[in-house]
Order: sequence, then structure tokens, then C-alpha cells
Amino acid sequence: MEAPRRIVIENCSIATVDAEDTEYASGHLVVNGSRIEAVGAGRAPKGLENVVRRVDASGHLLTPGLVNTHHHFYQWLTRGLATDHHLFDWLVALYPIWARIDEEMVYAAAQGSLAMMARGGVTTAMDHHYIYPKGSGDLSGAVVRAARETGLRFTLARGSMDRGASDGGLPPDFAVETLQGALAATEATIKEHHDASFGALTQVAVAPCSPFSVSTELLRESAELARSKGVRLHTHGSETVEEERFCHELFGMGPTDYFESTGWLGEDVWMAHCVHMNDSDIAAFARTGTGVAHCPSSNARLAAGIARVPDLLAAGVPVGLGVDGTASNESGELHTELRNAVLINRLGAHREAALTVRQALRLGTYGGAQVLGRAREIGSLEPGKLADLVLWKLDTLAHASIADPVTALVLGAAAPVTLALVGGEPVVENGRLVHVDEDAIACSTRTEARRLARITAQGPSS
Ligand SMILES: [Zn+2]
Repeated sequence: MEAPRRIVIENCSIATVDAEDTEYASGHLVVNGSRIEAVGAGRAPKGLENVVRRVDASGHLLTPGLVNTHHHFYQWLTRGLATDHHLFDWLVALYPIWARIDEEMVYAAAQGSLAMMARGGVTTAMDHHYIYPKGSGDLSGAVVRAARETGLRFTLARGSMDRGASDGGLPPDFAVETLQGALAATEATIKEHHDASFGALTQVAVAPCSPFSVSTELLRESAELARSKGVRLHTHGSETVEEERFCHELFGMGPTDYFESTGWLGEDVWMAHCVHMNDSDIAAFARTGTGVAHCPSSNARLAAGIARVPDLLAAGVPVGLGVDGTASNESGELHTELRNAVLINRLGAHREAALTVRQALRLGTYGGAQVLGRAREIGSLEPGKLADLVLWKLDTLAHASIADPVTALVLGAAAPVTLALVGGEPVVENGRLVHVDEDAIACSTRTEARRLARITAQGPSS
């Protein structure tokens, strides 16, 4: 048997985000190989063998790595466009650009998205990719390759759209796939990239885009495909009033009832946004264990509304946080979503305790692990779980005068990351990415964004 290889981190505050919210004002954590071996108060036990690294983490807060539950990497190339639009107008403005993406563009965009999240404390990323123009190359493969290179744990939500403009949908026809084509490609992606084992670095979910861009058949058959393969289901749900109206007009019911009628509620499902939910919708999510990816910045940017997160949590619905695509959240950072979740959910009179800073940290860690179906492996600092963790530096000008470290992290300015581990392997050291060159990525994303703009300016594809 291989000798244990231990990393000892000590002298830091620790928020474990376990079931009791156990915290240590000054504690230690021992990593053994890819897993957490011990966490507790005070210094690490003396006499540990095979310690390859000892980190004096004075002035830091140690938390589980952040888990992002909703994103669209390709949008990294179209940030800052259509800045004053609601969702449907924004989509109509951007689809003609997005329909021109190719493999090189998607690879660069994925690198940019992943790098930005990793340096901000994300250890598990996800990408909901749903635009596969004909002849655009291996887009899923490009995204998975970028994630592997960054060293993050990753869920690829293989999306799809088959309801083009001529079928009453929003996307232009040349940006959509056929029903059978989408299903076959999704099945092939699961076969090629999904790893069901404990500690998997890459998983795949089945993720048709939204009720207004996919057919009822594609929703139904996607659910059947995912369940036959034992993978999870993801989509956008109840994001805007326009979507609600669309569902009533087309299907004679609201989005949640429509999802239920197509087999889309269950503990293997999570949906982004869930802003426009009435009490019976929330009860249906709670009854079925359906999860939610809360994306406060994107919802505000597109004036979609405020998700009822306190009510979802009170009902027992699993809730994680999402950056969402960077065309509707240009920062692309998840740690700022901790703060925005607190602030947005407090808007309105007498809502000062609607969401606490510790609840926000839980949404960004354990809640995310829950909705991705990985709460046994990640999301809290507990012996036996994977060593996915972040050391936040809180002793500089930005945070040093705030006594409570969790408050400093959530309500203060974005804290620098001194160390981030994924499965015990460093992905960030002293604020810099370990495996990829941040400056080279900045350069290639700029080049690819300009190429996309140039191709789009030449006019629509035939
Ligand atoms: Zn989205």
C-alpha cells in the first residue's frame, strides 16, 4: 500500500460547514492523499508521519472549496453586450453571435471562465453548454479539456435546443439541433466523459436548455436518457415572467407543473433561477427533492426578479449558488455571489435576517455539492471527504478589522486565495493558478472574442 502523504494546515480559523456548522477560532486540518483525515481545534497532533507540507495559515479562514452550480462558459467571449435588456430581448440580441462559435473559441472561453472561478476559490465548476452549431467541432471535448488543465472538479451539463424560431422558439434555426441528433450526442458525451466513481474529476449531466427553446419530446426523452444512464438532469426554470406567460400560452400551465408533467421533478434534477415560484411550486420542489441553482447577480442584471431563497430553504429545497453565464454576470466570480445572495434576499422591508452570512457560505459550498449530487464527497470539511478546500487571506487592509471571519469573507471585499486544493492537489498558490498561465489565457480570450465579433459582423451563416 502507498505510504500516506500528508499536508498539515494550522493556525487558521475554520468554518467546516458540517451539519452543525462547527467552527474553530484557531484550528488545524490534515489532508491525507486526496482526502481530509482530521479537522479540529488547536494545532495538529504531534508525531504525524509523511508530512510533505506544513502550512502556517495565521490570518486566514479555511472553508470548503466553493461549488458553482450554473454557468455558460462560451459566454466569456460576449461579455458586456446587450447590457440593458431583459432575458428574452437579451437572448434575441445574442443568439446570432453565439450561433457562430467554434471549438477554438469555446476552448478559450472555457479557460477564461475556469481560471476566473479557480482564482476566486471555486474548486468544483460546471458548464451548461447548449449551443452546438453544425460543423463547430468537438465543443464538449474542448470544455472538458480546459477543465482538466485547470485542475478543477467539473460537471459538464450537456445542453441542447431543438425549438428554433420556425417552431415558435427563441433561438434562430441554425443554432438548434434535431431531437434525435441532440439525444444521440448527449448519450455519446456521457459515454466519453462521465465518471461515476467517488472522487471523479469529470461528470456529465443531461441539460436541455429551457422550456422555450426545447420541445416537450426532448424534455421527456432527456429525462429518460439521464435515468437510464444514472446521471443528473439540469435546465433553466421559472426565470422570468415572460417564461411563465410562454408556458401558460403554449402548455396551459406554469413552468413547474409543465416540468412535472414531463418527468422533470426529482432528487436527480436541479434547475437554474427558479425566481417565479408560487407556494405550490416550492412545495413540489420540496416534495420531490428538486434542487435550485440561485444566481443573484444574473437575476439582477436581467431584471428577472428575486428568487424566494429563504422560503425554498425553509421548505427543505436543496439550494446552491451559480455565477450563470458571463454575458449576464460579467465578473464571472462565485465568491461575490455569496455577498449578493445575502444582499438581494434582504431587499424589502424587515428582511434583515432573510439570509445570514453563514447560510450564504452554506449555499456556496454544501448546498452546491447537494444539487450536483456530490454531498457525500465534497461541500464540507469532514474526515473522509475529498480535500477540496480554500484558504482565504483575511489579514490585509480589506478585512483585518472585521472580527468574525465568515462575515469578513461574505460581506467584505473579495478575499484573496492563498491556497486552494482539489483532491489534495494545489490549484491556486498565493493568488496564482498553478497549472495554467492566467496572462496567456487573458490574451487568447481577447483574440477569440475579437474573431467571434469579426465573423458575426460578416453576416448570418447560410
Ligand atoms: Zn443560465
